[in-house]
Amino acid sequence: MRMLRYILIILVISIFIGCNNHSNSNFETPDNYKFSSEVELNMYIQKNMQNLNFKNDPYGNLLYVELGDFLVKFDAYHSKIINDSILIPYSYTFNEEWGSSYAIYEINLSQNGGVLLSFDDYYNPNWDNILPVFNDYGIKATFFCFGDPKKRSGLKEFIFLAQAYGMEVGYHTLNHTVMTNMSKEGVFRNAIKPLESFENMGIKISTMSLPGGGIPKDNEALNELLENYKIVRASGLGRVNIYYTPEEISKGFIYGSSFDQLFFPNDESFRNMIKTRLIIAKLTGKIWPGFGHYFLDEDEVKDDLDYTIKIENLRYMLELINTLKLDSYLYKDFY
Ligand SMILES: [Zn+2]
Repeated sequence: MRMLRYILIILVISIFIGCNNHSNSNFETPDNYKFSSEVELNMYIQKNMQNLNFKNDPYGNLLYVELGDFLVKFDAYHSKIINDSILIPYSYTFNEEWGSSYAIYEINLSQNGGVLLSFDDYYNPNWDNILPVFNDYGIKATFFCFGDPKKRSGLKEFIFLAQAYGMEVGYHTLNHTVMTNMSKEGVFRNAIKPLESFENMGIKISTMSLPGGGIPKDNEALNELLENYKIVRASGLGRVNIYYTPEEISKGFIYGSSFDQLFFPNDESFRNMIKTRLIIAKLTGKIWPGFGHYFLDEDEVKDDLDYTIKIENLRYMLELINTLKLDSYLYKDFY
């Protein structure tokens, strides 16, 4: 009798587990991702592509997902954007054998990710003329200007023009002196005191970018900046690409990632890299703080092309931001 009861209980439990497994479908929630075959691993990726926890490597172009013992590497650089989908190759090692496949990420099924574009220095009338291009794509950007608005030709007008276009204006110090070895007093003279001239004209500035990306080594000097600005942007140049959550940006200090021509041997490499950056932002759901300087027209002749972006490349980037349905943010969206 007792035996029969045991058998019954075991039967009920196994039916319950069986149903439970079935309702979760075959391998949607594997225990600790203990895939028993390559098929299971690949089917899991295909089914859960929209909800995988994508991470990125700030020093490379790697986008990866950890599934228990498995590290699945997604290749954003070799991805293709086809209509509303991203076709993305991935690879993994299963039972010490290397394997690979492709996954499809539906752009419209995710509202994730964004860009925090900014430009440094102020060029007159180069920047004034570019504002309609951003307007064409409905994309926002922040323009960090250096100088005194009472003295620098066109600066005051540009600030109001940019604001009328829905852009933000930040500061980039009085004379563009690199601040790495500056004292607290130097920081005050170069980056805090000059804000009064702007305020006198009704311009409130709460964000800044460091000239040359140089972060003050002196703690008091750095704190002077952090206390007087809501967000300070340093520079990881083109080599470091850190993607941020809104909460991380709100803390007040970020590294921007340069998209100046200096870092790209040709247009194709620029476009591939921008595509990679934007796809990483989309899949990680984070915000990419890209920045540049001067906008270069097609027929324009200029001695130093290092700190420029071709306007056709800018348009490529802005269009891709919209294709990928990434949000564009201003710095003030985070304070
Ligand atoms: Zn600069």
